[in-house]
Amino acid sequence: MKKTQLIMVWLLPVIIIGGLFYPLLGYLVVAMMAILLVMALFKGRYWCGNLCPRGAFLDIIMSRLTLNRPLPHIFLKTWFRWLVLVLFMSFLVSRIMRAGGNLVAIGAVFVGMCILTTVISIILGASIKHRGWCAICPMGTLQNEISKSRKER
Ligand code: SF4
Repeated sequence: MKKTQLIMVWLLPVIIIGGLFYPLLGYLVVAMMAILLVMALFKGRYWCGNLCPRGAFLDIIMSRLTLNRPLPHIFLKTWFRWLVLVLFMSFLVSRIMRAGGNLVAIGAVFVGMCILTTVISIILGASIKHRGWCAICPMGTLQNEISKSRKER
């Protein structure tokens, strides 16, 4: 595991536990999404291997708890990754719209998404591979597409 991961991993409990009491911490998720998407233009999936707090948690903790089974074939299908991306983004956007412009409520939406995706990543990490979630993570899919489109130019 990398030094950067040992530092970044602490952001995960800060957001999912601290965010329950102080929902504005959800904006850290927004900031990280922006950083990783811009970073994908120059460094591909560098974020995933070095800086992602959830990726670090999966490497540090779930790698010791996983059954380490092969990924389901469907996780490797591009259409399935895009389906997960569209479903998550639609869910996220609909919840933001329901927040009615309230900044605290919007922060809580991002905290909730972070909790939900972390729970899913733990279930997949324990029952399949420690980084099972990363195969279908919407942010991973977007980084792939951004770095791919940059290389094609
Ligand atoms: S795929 Fe998603 S959860 Fe995994 S390291 Fe990348 S951004 Fe983080």
